[in-house]
Amino acid sequence: MAIVRVALPIPLPQVFDYAAADASEADVGRCVKVPFGRGERTGLIVALAEAAEVDTTRLKAVHHIQRAVPALPADWLELVGFVARYYHAPIGEVVALALPPGLRRADGVSAEDEDPLLALAAAGREALAAPRRPSKALALLQALAAGAGPWRRAMVRDMAGGEAVGELLRRGWLAVVVDAGDPHATGALPALTAEQAAAVDAVDQAGPGFRTWLLHGVTGSGKTEVYLRLAARMLAQGRQVLMLVPEIALTPQLEARVAQRFAAANVVSLHSGLADGARSRGFVQALTGRADIVLGTRLAVFAPLPRLGLILVDEEHDASYKQQEGVRYSARDVAVWRARQRDVPIVLGSATPSLETWYHARRERYALQTLSQRALAASLPVVRCIDTRRLKLDEGLSPALQAALAQRLARGEQSLVFLNRRGYAPVLSCPACGWVSRCPHCSANLVVHLADRRLRCHHCGCDGPIPPACPSCGNQDIQPFGRGTQRIEARLAELFPQARVLRVDRDAARTRKQWEALLDTIAAGEADILVGTQMMAKGHDFPKLTLVGVIAADASLHAADFRAPERLFQQLMQVGGRAGRGALPGEVLIQTEYPAHPLYQHLARHDFDAFARMALQERRSAGFPPFTHQAMLRADAPALDVAVEFLRHARGLAQERAPEGLRIFDPVPMRMTRLARRERAQLLVEADQRGPLQAFLAEWLALLYRQRTARELRWQIDVDPLEV
Ligand code: ADP
Ligand code: ZN
Ligand code: ZN
Repeated sequence: MAIVRVALPIPLPQVFDYAAADASEADVGRCVKVPFGRGERTGLIVALAEAAEVDTTRLKAVHHIQRAVPALPADWLELVGFVARYYHAPIGEVVALALPPGLRRADGVSAEDEDPLLALAAAGREALAAPRRPSKALALLQALAAGAGPWRRAMVRDMAGGEAVGELLRRGWLAVVVDAGDPHATGALPALTAEQAAAVDAVDQAGPGFRTWLLHGVTGSGKTEVYLRLAARMLAQGRQVLMLVPEIALTPQLEARVAQRFAAANVVSLHSGLADGARSRGFVQALTGRADIVLGTRLAVFAPLPRLGLILVDEEHDASYKQQEGVRYSARDVAVWRARQRDVPIVLGSATPSLETWYHARRERYALQTLSQRALAASLPVVRCIDTRRLKLDEGLSPALQAALAQRLARGEQSLVFLNRRGYAPVLSCPACGWVSRCPHCSANLVVHLADRRLRCHHCGCDGPIPPACPSCGNQDIQPFGRGTQRIEARLAELFPQARVLRVDRDAARTRKQWEALLDTIAAGEADILVGTQMMAKGHDFPKLTLVGVIAADASLHAADFRAPERLFQQLMQVGGRAGRGALPGEVLIQTEYPAHPLYQHLARHDFDAFARMALQERRSAGFPPFTHQAMLRADAPALDVAVEFLRHARGLAQERAPEGLRIFDPVPMRMTRLARRERAQLLVEADQRGPLQAFLAEWLALLYRQRTARELRWQIDVDPLEV
């Protein structure tokens, strides 16, 4: 009888042994259902055990081994093993994160191609030619015919009016393509710029082995085109390509571009917004090698890829590559490890690389390719600061910005007012008694949402109606204080009654459908002034957008987090990069009380390198990453004492075994101490070298897992934390 070692999604850093009468080496990497406690759990067989190691008489038997799906390969098990080790997370939790829920539950999963390739049929062409009454089906057909097919069914479904795809198939207007032809075939290609060509050639000529590239290209320089060319070469060699993007919100545009370029290739999307079935199906297609390109957000880094030839990480600096709960992995860093493991090249692309990556490139650990020119536009936008110190602002809008908006409006061009704060106002307050709308569960204010007349906490999500009078003194004249996107939107609508003002933030784009509808509206030129948060900052390409106005950015200059300036610079450079990407020149206006601040000065000159040198200098003298390596132990409980007490105890344990050079700080309450009724504290551990820190963490955490702690206490470790 065989004994299988099963990783179960349980917060304990161990695997569990079960008896399995018919299990063999071939079952390693398969999902199983096993009895656990009084119930049943699903997990993954990570190894077979030697009978001698365990007391077989006490073993329970597995209930079911999922054999309908091919087992996950050894390199995949190594990958999750690495993530568990490096981030000091229970292996079962890493597996649970990496596997789509459907597979994990060991349900039957169909790997069938339920996403067939569709092409315009003869009947469809006739329908387009003949005069017809407008219908949903016809509208969809026309939308499709405007581009070049073929299309994946799922892609069509996701389009506006995509529900009609079934109808199109029934009427025979679209037909399933049986012989998809050459999967490497591409549509007409634009001629590369000299810099693009140099980058493609450099990566290409370096050959198939592991190498990390930084593709540092200014906004609009055509990094995507470089990715696509590199991908094409890999597909031609019969290899798979993994392409990571920071946010689901960015996938529709890119998906469309990739699908258009490689019409006959099997492009699979993987992100958390997918329904269970679709995610499992994509994962299995990657696993069986049927997927040619896997395109996805951070969790796609766990797609098994037997023919992997290249990894691309777009906007590598983006914070959303780092998971901020549970297993706190960085998909970018895991991707680099994976490229090394599989001995394939990896390209990290960004206009504003993270300082860590930029530092590696400077030290020639990463190979650097630079795109300094925009592909289409003649030049980068002109960036200017508007000194607001002596100006009278109208709801935060300076006269100069208003004039610039009016000018764009007169020319029929689009503008974006960027403000990274959604809602109407960040707080409601009473001028009579000083009452402010605090969240009852968090150390944060409740944000005024005038659109639906609610007060809402952006941290825990709790909300309630806006009170008619001050809850503390009864004063009826309570005021929203400060400004969010809704307030700017309202004021702009008053100032420019002839303009179509469109707000683009997480409240306006709750679902992917809403988000796509907004993007379509902007692309169709049906909006004149956009008011947007950082959702608008990334990756989008709107040729008619020529002005970006930045308001209320100064707060981040003085934030306590040492990464705040880096993030601000990245954000402003990215959002500014939306301006003037097409034939029309762009302009960026930054309202600030610190026009001489070096950060803004570097920004105005588009000088990322100068900014990065300055920021790295500061980090070096302050002893921050990348010159040190950090891990953060966080604890939370209903009462702060309990959390701090645990961290003190953990600190004591650490001090007994800390190697030389390891710095253990004092436990401190987190900046936002209270979140969702829990008080939070943290303890920073730091070392100059990664190796000793990792060795220490392994030993320390093994001890921590064995401590008996108060039942209401929770703790987690965060390796390479982004927020300290
Ligand atoms: P980035 O991601 O570097 O900001 P994009 O990849 O979005 O830039 O490219 C910016 C614009 O330039 C897009 O509209 C793209 O289609 C276009 N473009 C890129 N490369 C070329 C090229 N070689 N010739 C013509 N247009 C290009
Ligand atoms: Zn009051
Ligand atoms: Zn709250």
